[in-house]
Amino acid sequence: MSAATQTSTTFDPQCRACTRLAGFLAGVRADRPDYHAAPVPAFGDPRPKLLIVGLAPGMHGANRTGRPFTGDYAGILLYRTLYRFGFASAPQSVDLDDGLQLVGCRVTNAVKCLPPQNKPETDEVRACNRYLEAELDEIKPRGAVLALGTIAHRAVLSALGVRPATCAFAHGAQHVIPGGRALFDSYHCSRYNTQTKRLTDEMFESVFTVIIGFLTRT
Ligand code: URA
Repeated sequence: MSAATQTSTTFDPQCRACTRLAGFLAGVRADRPDYHAAPVPAFGDPRPKLLIVGLAPGMHGANRTGRPFTGDYAGILLYRTLYRFGFASAPQSVDLDDGLQLVGCRVTNAVKCLPPQNKPETDEVRACNRYLEAELDEIKPRGAVLALGTIAHRAVLSALGVRPATCAFAHGAQHVIPGGRALFDSYHCSRYNTQTKRLTDEMFESVFTVIIGFLTRT
């Protein structure tokens, strides 16, 4: 277990630790009774070689379907790339009943509840860090973490008890983290980043090529 301040805890689907987020979700549930509108659990291999960490559920994606990066634009590039690199049984993640399986890989978020305007507050990231810490503990020895964006990157470092000053976020960076594991960074595969070409398919795939190199060497 890492040296972070929170105690590592297995995901709680009933969590209401953040008053603002719990209140927001209650409103979304009332407006949209067909939506998941609750904390979204990690998806995939419970003992993965690779853990991918996003930001938080999107309103009409993970918050609707109950699976990270599923049902909105942000998941398109992610699941297509996971399939291309042998981590997924299909190139798309549609909904909980689509039969998709991840192989050696798990996808989660730094914050498990939908935040207003997609912007979690610092204390919400901190409160949710207990679940991320448990998910990081479940990675196989000499496995890898891929952080999508700076908030995920910082949340991973915090869960591991690593000082952020020693590991700055940069697209394509690789950092050594405890347990012989490595943290890789990518720009988030959001609609904004992909449509503006801040993140292209080629850039995202080269991060995965380096991750595969790391996982097959170790
Ligand atoms: N959907 C997620 O589950 N996470 C993100 O970071 C973005 C969209």
